[in-house]
Amino acid sequence: MNERHYDVVIIGAGMVGATTASLLSRSGFSVALIEAHEPQAFDAEAEVGLRVSAISPGSAAVLEQAGVWKQISRQRVRPYRRMQIEDGVDFEPLLFDAPAFNLERLGTIVENTLLQWSLWQLVSGSGMLDCYCPDRLAGIETGQDQNRVMLKSGKILTASLVIGADGARSRVRKAMGIRQDYWSYNQQGLVAVCGKTSPNPGVAWQRFLPGGPLAFLPLEDGRSSIVWTRPSAEAERLLALNTDEFIKELDAASSGWLGTVESCGPRAAFPLSMRLSDCYASQRTVLIGDAAHVVHPLAGQGVNLGFADAAGLTEILIATRFAGTDIGSAKVLQAYARSRRSESETMAFGMHAIRSLFDIDGLSVLRRAGMAVVRRSWVLKDLFLQRAAGVAANAPRLARGTSLQELMQA
Ligand SMILES: Cc1cc2nc3c(=O)[nH]c(=O)nc-3n(C[C@H](O)[C@H](O)[C@H](O)COP(=O)(O)OP(=O)(O)OC[C@H]3O[C@@H](n4cnc5c(N)ncnc54)[C@H](O)[C@@H]3O)c2cc1C
Repeated sequence: MNERHYDVVIIGAGMVGATTASLLSRSGFSVALIEAHEPQAFDAEAEVGLRVSAISPGSAAVLEQAGVWKQISRQRVRPYRRMQIEDGVDFEPLLFDAPAFNLERLGTIVENTLLQWSLWQLVSGSGMLDCYCPDRLAGIETGQDQNRVMLKSGKILTASLVIGADGARSRVRKAMGIRQDYWSYNQQGLVAVCGKTSPNPGVAWQRFLPGGPLAFLPLEDGRSSIVWTRPSAEAERLLALNTDEFIKELDAASSGWLGTVESCGPRAAFPLSMRLSDCYASQRTVLIGDAAHVVHPLAGQGVNLGFADAAGLTEILIATRFAGTDIGSAKVLQAYARSRRSESETMAFGMHAIRSLFDIDGLSVLRRAGMAVVRRSWVLKDLFLQRAAGVAANAPRLARGTSLQELMQA
């Protein structure tokens, strides 16, 4: 049977898989990308989508190297320069302003459909890599020198390295027998697009309330995209309310910030969980993005961690090729797994701890003390911000402004 060989086969062309595919093909690797279905086309005339992501400056740098950020940043996106965090009790908010930390912006709010569609057009239209879509992973056969990837269509591909970028319920992870710890928060993230009396001036605002945080993320037209974390039954109740009733409850929860809620579009809710894979690499296969880790969205870090995985892996593979070593060797894969696993687990447990601190009523004294310490400590604020911005010293070099060209010449 005719089996096509690639340096890398990537399963899943979500935001993380498509970015990785572009970075690796631009670095000269032969790449195949397998995707179950083409993403929804982005329509700039249509209403703003319900799913948005807060893209950190580090992720924007990675997307720039993937060849897509310039085009995205010219479209319906909103940069934000201030983050305001409140705990619903203490009236002095925690403020983070970009210029105070030598950053031009803290992040950019981008609709997921814009990101996914721009990336898909790039990878499927570039001619630099082969896209197999619609198709699905059927199985992986591991081997000494290469892995065989069986697709539902009956096609068989071989690769020096297989990358699982196929999301939280990763088939690749299951096929490799990698165990995963799973915690359900019994919470849902309720999302909607809302307008207040005053337009959002470009502030990512978050208030921690009993039951979960409420975030208002700025949109290009002055409205905000909200993510309201509620216990699952409560989220269902909020979804079932009519628009006026919902606006009344949202108004009470956001108590006066930017005036009152004046409009609210359709709502949807997503179950929230934390998932951590036992290992990120096994037998010529690695996991990236949600396939490797899922974190609570309260700091908007999920896809940013995935972009950092993509960048970290690309750097290691470029260096490996330069050294003339096998890109699928255990040593190489372990180097990737070590560097990315510690970062994702720190973030996941950090989010877990913050969530618990704000969720448990008895901890209010501890919480207020913590807020007060962070408010007064420039060092803590700086540490927090560098990490959230994806530009801390341990972030991949591609996230800190190094170009692919520079990496390839190093
Ligand atoms: C309410 C909410 C708000 C969030 N807000 C933010 C935020 O502000 N910032 C942030 O950084 N993160 C945020 N996140 C997290 C973020 O959305 C995820 O981390 C991100 O979407 C994961 O991207 P991914 O590419 O790894 O996986 P996915 O988006 O799940 O993509 C996986 C891809 O693989 C394909 N696939 C699956 N199985 C197969 C198969 N067998 N064969 C072929 N293809 C397959 C799928 O079709 C899909 O295209 C939020 C999450 C939630 C729930």
